[in-house]
Amino acid sequence: MVFCVGLVLTACATVETRLPVPSASQLELEATNQETEAFARYLKMRERLDKISAPVLAANAELCTKTRADFGIVTHTKKSYPKHLRDAAARRLAVGDTHTVLLVRRGSAAHKAGIKRGDVLIGDKGKPVSTYDKSLKSADSLHIRRAGKDINVSLNADPACDYAVVLRMSGAVNAYANGRAVIVTTAMMDFAVSDDELALIVGHELAHNTMRHVPKAVWNTIISGLATRTTRPFESEADYVGLYYMARAGYNLDGVEDFWRRLGVQYPKSIVREKTHPVTPRRLLAIRMAVAEVEAKRAAGAELVPNYLPGKEPDYEKEPDYGK
Ligand SMILES: [Zn+2]
Repeated sequence: MVFCVGLVLTACATVETRLPVPSASQLELEATNQETEAFARYLKMRERLDKISAPVLAANAELCTKTRADFGIVTHTKKSYPKHLRDAAARRLAVGDTHTVLLVRRGSAAHKAGIKRGDVLIGDKGKPVSTYDKSLKSADSLHIRRAGKDINVSLNADPACDYAVVLRMSGAVNAYANGRAVIVTTAMMDFAVSDDELALIVGHELAHNTMRHVPKAVWNTIISGLATRTTRPFESEADYVGLYYMARAGYNLDGVEDFWRRLGVQYPKSIVREKTHPVTPRRLLAIRMAVAEVEAKRAAGAELVPNYLPGKEPDYEKEPDYGK
């Protein structure tokens, strides 16, 4: 037994027993297995996020100033993934530096047209492009490269709000809007137990984009660490408009506000983030009141659009201004 004190502790401490030592090849195999499993989990989340957000983007096309043809495709390159998942992505899907089709949403225009995983979308300059390429914004046909052959495919795609929905690998339960995209973390995907809850989050962040909050609040997060007198009205508006967005997409509003109770319970710090205005209780109760408003409109057969303040009705024809 060797005793050490102070700073030299790590240098002269010894152990008297240890775990068995695996071989290098065993370690390599286990590391590969863990990466493969992590990638499969990530891919499943990516698919779920696309499936849940697509109806929200489509159902609100007429309320969004920016729209594009919704083919129902998600494209990817190796760089679409966090660094530590890129090798697993390459092994599993042979993805490299060229944009290829990753997901084809069931029932979408691309699905009906027979587009498949691995197909390459060719833009107007004859080069592979992502699904968000400008040249595809209102296309009614797609130029596809499949196994070295070029094919032209006609599609009948309906418009959807033109905002990407991105999955970010992070242990923080959060979601963001940046004016161009809605970003949801993997921890949020785990936390949002139902598709309805996730639609509430996507609707909220979409509303930050469509209501042009980004230049006003710079960076909006679902659990706003920056909640101040300035950002609070934007959070309230995004909760309200986002609820309409998810309702219009056909999601179930019943009890969806409980998301905020669960969040408060799991992260008590978020209950009173703002000194004088409890965050999670206020959001839960206000959303519950807005749910009643939406349900009353539904029952009356009225159009599901938010009630705007007098003189504040939006002009959907006007292009959004996000500043520089
Ligand atoms: Zn927000």
